[in-house]
Amino acid sequence: MSLHAAPLAEIPTRTAELVRIILPKGNTITQLRDCFGAVYSDDQFRSLYPTRGQPAYAPWRLALVTIFQFLEHLSDRQAAEHVRTRLDWKYALALELEDLGFHYSVLSEFRARLVAADQGEMLFNTFLQACRDHHLLKPGRQRTDSTHVLARMRMLNRLELIGETLRVALDDLATVIPETLCQVIPAAWWARYGRRVEEGSLPHSEPSRSELAQTIGEDGFFLMTSLLNDTALNPLLDRPALAMLRQVWLQQFQRELSGLGVTQIKLRAQEDTPPAESRRCTPHEAEARASIKRHTRWQGYKVHFTECCDEAGPRLITHVKTTTATQPDVQVNDTIQTELIARALRPETHLVNAGYLSGDGLVESQARGIDLVGPLRESSSWQSRTADAFDLSAFVIQWEQRQVTCPAGQVSTMWSERSLSWTRRPAVQVKFSASSCRNCSLQSRCTRAKSGVRTLGFPDRVTFEFSGHPNHRNTDAGRHRLPAFTGFTTAQLVFSPTIQILRPSLCRT
Ligand code: SF4
Repeated sequence: MSLHAAPLAEIPTRTAELVRIILPKGNTITQLRDCFGAVYSDDQFRSLYPTRGQPAYAPWRLALVTIFQFLEHLSDRQAAEHVRTRLDWKYALALELEDLGFHYSVLSEFRARLVAADQGEMLFNTFLQACRDHHLLKPGRQRTDSTHVLARMRMLNRLELIGETLRVALDDLATVIPETLCQVIPAAWWARYGRRVEEGSLPHSEPSRSELAQTIGEDGFFLMTSLLNDTALNPLLDRPALAMLRQVWLQQFQRELSGLGVTQIKLRAQEDTPPAESRRCTPHEAEARASIKRHTRWQGYKVHFTECCDEAGPRLITHVKTTTATQPDVQVNDTIQTELIARALRPETHLVNAGYLSGDGLVESQARGIDLVGPLRESSSWQSRTADAFDLSAFVIQWEQRQVTCPAGQVSTMWSERSLSWTRRPAVQVKFSASSCRNCSLQSRCTRAKSGVRTLGFPDRVTFEFSGHPNHRNTDAGRHRLPAFTGFTTAQLVFSPTIQILRPSLCRT
């Protein structure tokens, strides 16, 4: 399939005349064409197509169809039918009345090309530029919020996960070494992994489930060892399905040497499995993770939207960032602001929810000339939630002397400065003497540590004084109440395709 870029076609006269008769005031689609023109051009997509082969359907039209499709929530099949039958679509796509359009599979093939060439954001950025050219983009005041994106998969319990992972690996091997595989695997495996592993077909009693988990574990190790021991088959271990098998087995099983010198395979205890950010939850999507936010549990990803919220202009999405489901919002703020600045969309005021806000973020935003605004997170310590307990605000910090005085008048004995591993920002750790705390009459209001000693942790002075600490009553935490994130008006045009297109290529940051 090759691209023969053609100059943009004028709207055919008969199509234009008929649309003017039937839709004298126009609709969203025709107004979009009248206002923005074709938005895309074939030249933008030149790198996605080879120079030889059958001519491809004009990609500028496919890009517009993709926008319309998501604007109207249509499947590929319905979108292709609308190209054939809708006058307003023909008008926007500059097609003759008799034009039959294209087969619906062309749309998924077009999206696959965009993903393969890492051009997922091109549709978004071009549309945004068109809005900018028409003076619709007012980036002065923007806000960011996130929502969950479901992976295209069913939720698997642990037994389903290990069984399904091995089945997918066997399926994959069957496509490359069908005959060798028949010789390697025992006959019983056909019954065990011949069909999708689903809860309905699994045993219910706990002993039977444990036994099956052990059998699946042994089968997986047997398969991997067989491939490892055969130099001709060895490279197959690098195939994605086999790499996934290795990772899942590493996370879910452990091998122990018994007293008789025999290696035993055991399913790990739940608390022994890796944390959610690295734990695989399906063999079908390597980057999907299980997460929970307030009352929402999901497996998949998280997407962060930033939109203009200037009263005077339309609410256009200016930035979309897809991350793993487990990545905290506060870690994305820096990337969002950096990318907005790189696109000349630096906000003067950046409104965020508490999850995005941190002292470090406030300092860094200030350095970028951005006023980061949002409610500070309440401290989660028991002292800040108990009426007469001593939270950080009850202590006096003497920065020059590098010491802290407690409510009982005792001075700290240890002051240590270090960088937090995940933010790489400096933080201070303070400790009081064991003898003072253990003999203190106020101890029950101050610490519940087993050691009986009070410790404190807070950010470095710059961050502390700039942002105020949530424990300190003199901050204006909670001053800014964010309006509900309504989003999705004109912006719906912009971001919808991007979610679909970005998802498979995420996690590259
Ligand atoms: S427990 Fe220790 S830090 Fe807390 S008030 Fe008493 S002496 Fe001070």
